[in-house]
Amino acid sequence: TKSAGRGSYRFYIEEFTQITRGRLELRRRLHNALQAGEFALVYQPQLNQQRQTVGAEALLRWSVDGKAVPPDEFIPLAEESGLIVPIGLWVFETACHQMAQWRAEGWQVPVVSVNVSTIQLREPGFTQTLLGVTQRAGVTPASLVLEITESQLLDESLYAIALELKNAGFALSIDDFGTGHSSLIKLKRLPVSELKIDKVFVRDIVVDVNDREICATVNALARTLGLEVVAEGVETEEQLQFLIRMGCERFQGWLFAPALPPRQLAEQWLQRQAS
Ligand code: C2E
Ligand code: CA
Ligand code: CA
Ligand code: CA
Repeated sequence: TKSAGRGSYRFYIEEFTQITRGRLELRRRLHNALQAGEFALVYQPQLNQQRQTVGAEALLRWSVDGKAVPPDEFIPLAEESGLIVPIGLWVFETACHQMAQWRAEGWQVPVVSVNVSTIQLREPGFTQTLLGVTQRAGVTPASLVLEITESQLLDESLYAIALELKNAGFALSIDDFGTGHSSLIKLKRLPVSELKIDKVFVRDIVVDVNDREICATVNALARTLGLEVVAEGVETEEQLQFLIRMGCERFQGWLFAPALPPRQLAEQWLQRQAS
C-alpha cells in the first residue's frame, strides 16, 4: 500500500542518514587516529613450496574504542581525504623499523611487503622520502616490496614514478592481479618484479574452471616475463595443490597463518640467524 511504501521510504532515509553520520564520525576519528596511537601493523607470512617463510605482508589495523574497523572501510576514507599520505608514511616507517628490530633480536627477515596507494605515489619526492626512511631505519630498499593494486598502476602517468622506485632499489608488486585487465604490452612496460593473484581467483580454483584457467594463465605469463607470483587467500590444502601444479611458488593465506602481531610472526614464522 501507499502508506507502507512511504514508511519504507522514510526508513530508507533514516538508515541512509545514519550511515552518512557513521562515515562522518569515522572520518573525524581517522583524523586523530595517528596521534591517538590507534594504528598497528600485523604481518602475514608468505611461504614457498617447502613452507619456508620468504616474506611477510604488513597489514594495517585500526581500532576505535577497542573495536577493529576493517581496512576495506577506512582505507577508502583515508584515500578520499588525503589522510592516506601521513598514514601510509607511518605504515612504511613502522614496517622498516620493525624489520630492523627483528634483525636486532636475531631473526632472519627476508622481505617485507607494504601496501602503497597511488595517492602516495603522486606525492612529490615520494622516492626520496622512502629512501630517507630506510636509511634512518638501517634497512635496504631491496628488502622492501611495494604492493600497488593493478587498477591503480594502469594509469600511464605512474610509469615514471614506478621506474624511479625500481631504480632506487625497491621491488614493486602488482596487487590484486587479474582484476584490472592489464594488457600484455602495459605489463611488459611496467618495472615490476611480482604479481599477486587476487584471492577471488584462488577462492574457487578447485571448483571453477574459469578461475583455474585465470590462475594458470597468470603463472604462465609471469614465467614468460620473469616475474614472481604470490597467490593470496590460500585457505585449503586443495587450493595449494592446484597452485603448485600450475608452477606457483609463493603463497599467502589462512591455510598457513592470518596476519599476526610482530612477536608472534617472529616466533612462529621466522628463523634464527646463524650466529
Ligand atoms: P590486500 O592487500 O589484498 O590484503 C590481503 C587481504 O586478504 C587482507 O585483508 C588479509 O587479511 C586477507 N587475507 C589473508 N589471507 C586470507 C585468506 O586466506 N582468505 C581470505 N578470505 N582473506 C585473506 P585486510 O587486512 O582486511 O586488508 C584489506 C585491504 O586493505 C588490503 O587488501 C589492502 O588493499 C588494504 N590495506 C591494508 N593495509 C593497508 C595499508 O597499510 N595501506 C594501504 N594503502 N592499504 C592497506
Ligand atoms: Ca596487498
Ligand atoms: Ca591483494
Ligand atoms: Ca585487495
